[in-house]
Amino acid sequence: MGLKENIESIQVRIERAAVRGGRKASDIILLAVSKTVDTDMVRRAYDLGLRHFGENRVQELQRKIDCLPEAHWHMIGRLQTNKVRDIVGKVQLIHSLDRWKLAEEIDKRGQQAGLEVPALIEVNISGEKQKAGFASKEVEELLEQASQFKSLRIFGFMTMAPLTEDAESSRPIFRELAGMKNQLEKNSYQNVELKYLSMGMSDDFEVAVEEGANIVRIGTALFKE
Ligand SMILES: *Cc1c(COP(=O)(O)O)cnc(C)c1O
Repeated sequence: MGLKENIESIQVRIERAAVRGGRKASDIILLAVSKTVDTDMVRRAYDLGLRHFGENRVQELQRKIDCLPEAHWHMIGRLQTNKVRDIVGKVQLIHSLDRWKLAEEIDKRGQQAGLEVPALIEVNISGEKQKAGFASKEVEELLEQASQFKSLRIFGFMTMAPLTEDAESSRPIFRELAGMKNQLEKNSYQNVELKYLSMGMSDDFEVAVEEGANIVRIGTALFKE
């Protein structure tokens, strides 16, 4: 299968999963994770209609933004504090706000640049030790503290399910994050608008959509030969 067929097949699968979850496919953003492919492939995907692209390393992200500035770029990987200023103002959304120090740094750099910086809180639902992200029980405090931010804006949550072959095993993780969003949405926090749920990758995006994801991050299934 080629790129065009991959895109079409993924879009159909998203659409069906959206229907099963009682939602509209048009509300779901297909974020193409381009970390394993080069810029000519990104350009082809763009020409085939994809608009959102994600990278997990700052240098690679910058390089690809320079090649295709008209696309919407997302930072999805672990972000070192000393790299924050390189991407502020260049990315649509940072999905990987995973620690307090990073929140402070993003806020500071955004303020210096005179920009609002949209980010998602990465939540470590599974609680795996090696995994990045805020613990579930820390999230509410972070939202409360958000009123102090000058520039950082919280637009929702992201999570990664544990790696597995079995998509169903991700379901409880996705359901828990969606539940957290529904719960916290009832409160009102300054500088917070809980509109995005970034969850689901190549092996489990349909389950994620069924559970409420509105951004799915897909690499392998899209760019495989
Ligand atoms: C690589 C990556 C993805 C995409 O994974 P695939 O299994 O290739 O679809 C999604 N999210 C993050 C954070 C990644 O690093």
